[in-house]
Formats: sequence, C-alpha cells, structure tokens
Amino acid sequence: MRARRGQKAILAARKAFDEGPWRKTTAQDRGKFLFKIGDLIRANAKALAELEVRNMGKPLAEAEYDVADAANCFEFYGGLATKLHGETMSVPANSLSFVVREPVGVCGQIIPWNYPLLMAAWKLAPALAAGCTVVLKPSELTPLTALELAKLILEAGLPAGVVNIVTGPGKDAGEELAESPLVDKIAFTGGTVTGRKIAIAATGNLKKTTLELGGKNPNIVFADADFESAVDGALFAAFANQGEVCSAGSRLLVEKSIHKKFVAAMLAKIPKIKLGHGLTPGVKMGPLVSAAHREKVEAYIAIGKKEAKLVCGGGRPKGLEAGNFVEPTIFDDATPSMRIAREEIFGPVMTVIPFKDENEAVRIANDSDYGLAAGVWTLNVNRGIRVLKELRAGITWLNTYHPTFNEMPWGGYKQSGNGRELGLYGIQAYLETKQININLDEAPLGWY
Ligand code: NDP
Repeated sequence: MRARRGQKAILAARKAFDEGPWRKTTAQDRGKFLFKIGDLIRANAKALAELEVRNMGKPLAEAEYDVADAANCFEFYGGLATKLHGETMSVPANSLSFVVREPVGVCGQIIPWNYPLLMAAWKLAPALAAGCTVVLKPSELTPLTALELAKLILEAGLPAGVVNIVTGPGKDAGEELAESPLVDKIAFTGGTVTGRKIAIAATGNLKKTTLELGGKNPNIVFADADFESAVDGALFAAFANQGEVCSAGSRLLVEKSIHKKFVAAMLAKIPKIKLGHGLTPGVKMGPLVSAAHREKVEAYIAIGKKEAKLVCGGGRPKGLEAGNFVEPTIFDDATPSMRIAREEIFGPVMTVIPFKDENEAVRIANDSDYGLAAGVWTLNVNRGIRVLKELRAGITWLNTYHPTFNEMPWGGYKQSGNGRELGLYGIQAYLETKQININLDEAPLGWY
C-alpha cells in the first residue's frame, strides 16, 4: 500500500478543528495571531528573501517584494477576521431568520514552486482568518520558505494542529490531501493538468474546491499607447520571475502600424535583463526552477523555431552553465493558431502576434482555453475601458502589467480555474453559510 505521509497532519488538523480551541478562538484573537505572523515575517524579511532566492531562483528584488506582500496578506486578513458577518432576512413567517458564516473546516492547500512563500500566505491567511485549520503542501522543489514560515507561525503561538505543513511529491502528499474524506476543502494553485486531477480526486467526499491554474495571457499594445511605457511593460509582463508566472503576459498582441518598431525597441532593451544568481547585485532574471522544467521550456522553443520567427534568445546563456538558465526569448510574426500562441510555456518566452484593429485584437485575445489575466496599452481611455470590458479574463490591467493587490480578487475565467483568492472574495471559499430560523410564536404549528 502506498505510504500516506500526510495522515498524521490531516488528523492533527481535524482534531484542532473538531475538538481544539481554534474554531472557538474569537475573531479578535485570530486577527491578532495573523498580525503577529505579519510582524514576524517583516522582522525576518531579509533572511526570508534570501532563502526564497535560493529556494526557487528568482532575483532578490522580486523575492523582497514577495516577502513584503506576504506580510501584507496576513495583515489584510488579520483585519478582515473581525469584519466577517452574516445578515438578517425578512421572511413570510413570525420568525427571526438570519444567516451566519462559519469556517469550512479542515483545508488542504497545495501550492506551486513559482512564488513559494507568497502562495503559502495567500492560502493560509484567509483560511486562518475564517477559523479553519490547514494542511499545506508546498512543491517538493521549493519547500524551504514554507517551512520557515511554519516556524514563525509556531513563534506567533498558534495552537497545535492549526497549521500543518506536509512536504513531499504531489503524486503522494498532494493526492492524499485531495482524496482524503477528512479534508473539507481543497485549494490548489498550479498547472491546469494537475488542477483537473485534483478536482477529480476531490469528488470522493465532494470537497469544496478552488483552483488557480494557468494562463496564456494577452497583453495588447495599440499604436496610440505611450510607447516607452508599453515597451518596458511588455518585457516585464513576459519576463518577470523568469516568465514562471501564471499571469505572465506571454502573448504580446501589437498593432500592425507600430509592430516592427515595437519589436525593435524591445530587442534594444533585452540586454538590460541581466541573467545570473538571484543574489548577485543587478541581476534581473534567475535560472528556471529545475532541469526538468528547463527541458519543457526548451521543447517549446524548438516548436517555436518551426512555427514562427525567433528574434532573440532561444538558448542557454554562455558562462552560466551551472544553472538552469534560458535566455529571454522572443518569437515574432506568430499567428493565433500556433502552439506557442496557445499553450502555457511558463518560462521566459514571449510570442508576438500582430493585429490590424481593435476588433481583431479582442478576438485573438479571447481565442484561448484560458482566461486568467490580460493587459491593454492605449492612451485613449474610451478604447482602454471598452477593450477591458470585452476581455474574458479575471485580472486585467490598463497601461500597466502585473501589480497584484491583496485587497483585489485573484482568479480566472474558463480553464484558468474556479473561485477567487485574495480580497473580500478570497475568504468566501473558507466560509460555510448557515441559516438560523427562530420561531417567535408560542402556539404549536398545528400541522397534525
Ligand atoms: P504542478 O501544477 O504539477 O504543481 C503544483 C503543485 O501541485 C505542487 O505542490 C505539486 O507537488 C502538486 N501536485 C503535483 N501533482 C499532484 C497531484 N496529482 N495531486 C496533488 N498535488 C499534485 O506543477 P508542475 O511543476 O508539474 O508544472 C507543470 C506546469 O504547470 C508548468 O509548466 C506550468 O505550466 C504550470 N504551473 C502553473 C502554476 C501557476 O501558478 N498557475 C504554478 C506552477 C506550474 P510537487 O511539485 O511536489 O510534485
């Protein structure tokens, strides 16, 4: 029989929820715990950021941003813990009828390797604010910062069993969480293929499921955009975090009249994306997370070379043989039906597709199985808002790309997942809804 490494953790979370103090801890105290965790993250920010660089390879400046954002996330939900509330309804009976919100129970949370600490924060903070207990499984490729966070959570004084971290491969530890009848809810961030498996595994006890999956996100540049901002934004959209981002602007749609000039301007800036160890000052792009993932990205580059025009990168940078580096890569003159325009590559590979007008841009942008994020660049505000409204995506930006706020809902349309994380929306998935009806009459109902 297959080893069930998470059983102890699941039982601990079950006990802490069913019998333990957490569910009965007041919202004020839950909030205070979350603020304490935020404080501890800030107090250890430097060490956490450096560890995150070693954990997954991203440049230090990006890791520092993630750490600050993780602290913000705990603080946001720390504040929200005391603002959760139900409502009273007028019903056609002599009844006091109202709705209360209660924690869902034991939550299995499976997170990926691209934002290991931040994803742990996104998952843990709303669950704890709601009063749930948790078993969190980081990717086996990047467990280090989640384990450090667990130490800080212990230091914050959370009762035993409330937060449990299980390391190990997805096939084992992750599957167990998705299948276990003792787990009430599963929250997953990662690839669409894995997300589908988890959704199926979770049907055994009809767990509540939220999935934050992949994207092939369009970033649309109109000829009337601020040219310099759009060039910078297009590169950042595609290459931040080595392109290992679910919301990466990996499909760049450029209006034909500026297309050649725009690509030339991007190529002129590419040398500024310095590759190297994330802790080396000035480095803007680190290695990919693993050798296996680099092979996957390189297989897509080989496909791209047959489909479109490689205008930069495509290889391994010289002098960096020790890491899983891939050069920032741009394919130009692509068409929407190509594989590099449709499939998530999840690496530093941008696919440029020229378009002739607004209608065509919207059509190409929406012609995708995914619907996570999208960007639009234009100084015509009417057009900007018109196009954003047409886009079938859950996260959209006008004249910027990538800023993410703990206050705003995060998630996708179509096969980019279901449910929303973050903001007021993100806590809903951790709350049950109960109706309470109190009969105000004293006479029997008189049915029989
Ligand atoms: P996965 O989606 O497979 O991994 C995400 C998490 O799920 C990890 O913790 C992983 O564990 C776990 N997992 C894997 N298989 C199972 C399973 N059967 N049951 C339960 N949990 C499981 O990412 P990959 O590393 O395989 O990457 C594949 C592709 O997914 C990438 O190339 C990219 O396209 C996409 N991706 C998207 C992300 C996003 O943010 N939307 C993040 C990461 C990847 P472990 O790693 O320990 O095996």
